This record gives sequence, C-alpha cells and structure tokens, in this order.
Amino acid sequence: MSLFIASLNSGSNGNCYYIGNNREAVLIDAGISCRETERRMSRIGLSLSNVKAIFVSHEHSDHITGIPGISKKHQIPVYFTASTYSSSNIPVEEHLVNYFQGGQSISIGSLTVKPFTKFHDASDPHSFMVTAHQINIGIFTDIGTVCQPLVEHFQQCHAAFLESNYCEDMLANGNYPVYLKKRISGKLGHLSNRQALDLFERYNIIFTNPPIHYLIADKSGQSAVIEFLRGEMKVIRNSEPWQVSTNFIITDSEAPFQIPCSRYRIVYDELKEKGGKITFIDAMNLLQKSSQKNTVWSAVYDPQTLEISLALGGNYNNILKFKIQK
Ligand SMILES: [Zn+2]
Repeated sequence: MSLFIASLNSGSNGNCYYIGNNREAVLIDAGISCRETERRMSRIGLSLSNVKAIFVSHEHSDHITGIPGISKKHQIPVYFTASTYSSSNIPVEEHLVNYFQGGQSISIGSLTVKPFTKFHDASDPHSFMVTAHQINIGIFTDIGTVCQPLVEHFQQCHAAFLESNYCEDMLANGNYPVYLKKRISGKLGHLSNRQALDLFERYNIIFTNPPIHYLIADKSGQSAVIEFLRGEMKVIRNSEPWQVSTNFIITDSEAPFQIPCSRYRIVYDELKEKGGKITFIDAMNLLQKSSQKNTVWSAVYDPQTLEISLALGGNYNNILKFKIQK
C-alpha cells in the first residue's frame, strides 16, 4: 500500500496538508479555497473524494478559510477542539462537526490521527502525528516553542512538515513594528530557522563522524559528489552519464573497480552494464539490493517528472510517493 503526502500550500496565505493511502486520506487544515484545493490536488493526481476528515490545528484564518466550502461540497467531517470551533466562527454543517481532545488518537479508516497541544497564540492549538501502515508523519506548523510533546513526537516521525518562519537577524533588523517582531519571535509565535535546525540536530537522525559527503545532480545528467575532509572540499564530477556514491569517501579510495564496498559494487556494476539507463522501478529495486540491515531510507528522485519515491526502514513494499511542484 502506498502512502501519499503533500503540502498543498503553506505560509501566511494558507496552509493545507494531505496524508493518505489509495483508499482514504485526511487533510490537516484547509486554508485555501475549495476550488484551489481541488485544482492543486488534481495536478498531482489526488482527489478530495478520498478525504474522509479535515483536522483543524487552530482558528487562524490561514488554516481554516477553505473549510466551509470543502466540507459542504464534499460532505467531509471536520474535527476541532471545542474551543477552536467556537473561536473559528466559520459555518460548518452541524452533522459534519466533530470534536477531538489532545492526546486522544482518532481512527479514520486505516489512518490514525494523534493531536497534541502546542504553543501558539490561538485558543487551543494542536499539532498532529498521522500514522498509516506503521509510518508516522508529523505536521508541525505555527509553533512558538519547541516543547516536550513536540520533541517526543518528532523523534517518532519518519517524515515531518516542520514550519520555520523567520531568520532571527533579518527579523531583528527588519522594519516590522516592534509588536509584530515580538509576536513572531515570542513563545506563542513561530519557530525561527535556527530553532528548527536545532530540533533536527538534537532530536532526529544524527549524522556524526565527519567527514561528510553528498551527491548532487541535475536533470541534464550532470552530477558531482561533494566531499568534505581534512578541512577541504573535494568535487568529483561524473565521467559517465551516471555516478555512484555510497558510505565511504571516494577521495581517499582507489579507482572505482578497486573499491571494497559491496553496495557500491552492486550499483556500479548494474549501471555500467546498462549505461546508466534504468527505469524508476529498477532504481528502487537496485537500492533494495544494495541496502543494509540498518538502512534508514532509500529514495528515487526523477528530476524530469519531479517525483520522489521513498522506502523507509527497509520496507520496500510500502513506498511513499511525493511530487515536488515548481
Ligand atoms: Zn497561526
């Protein structure tokens, strides 16, 4: 069963996140119009007919503007806390209004939605963790402070939407009025970029042990492995229309055919044999073949179609699919 996750819009002009499988889905917030939500979903092959519930994080207009139209037209139940519903002042048909409480999980078909409280300047704001097929997705937006419940849920997430809202220096030196600067950076406002990065560094997968390396590529087929070691940056460009990088530093190694890494060999040999031309599915199969017991994730990215497939925790039967929008 595949899992589909999409940020249909984020920012002060509207927030709306989609999490679902082939049969059912939920929206977290609906801050853009019904028409625009439909348009954006159909562009990436999703449909509101799969959406079985909308969960509301808080009553700010950029999170709820689309709710009356979407829930009425598609008859989708909406889940609020009692306080958020009374503060939101939006018309939702009575039989579609449902309530949730922080800490209590709600099942929507095979999906589970767990709300938990957060710090933000609204009446009763909540973040959510959605679980589907043992994969946890976090939707953490409009957060003033990194609090303990956020850390606990963040650590359980395989993927997360984490909003960071501003650069501390730019906000301090910019020309917003003082009250607004205080509101944004206060305990009930938004996370800064630095706070969001701190959360990743401290509580998610930690990549210790420098040196580090990564591979970049563009859709023309140009690529390079960038390595940082002994205080220097090394760039290794591709000599073929493909390139391989696994968990070792190429700069310190002999020619590729002498590299004693079995994972590198598996991928190198197959790409060499096929001249680098393999299908999207073959690429994921190749990643599975070269995976290890402790492989955390495998991803295939198609720069032409902007599609990403992601396998988490060695589970290659449950592929998450994303599409990046231009
Ligand atoms: Zn807000």
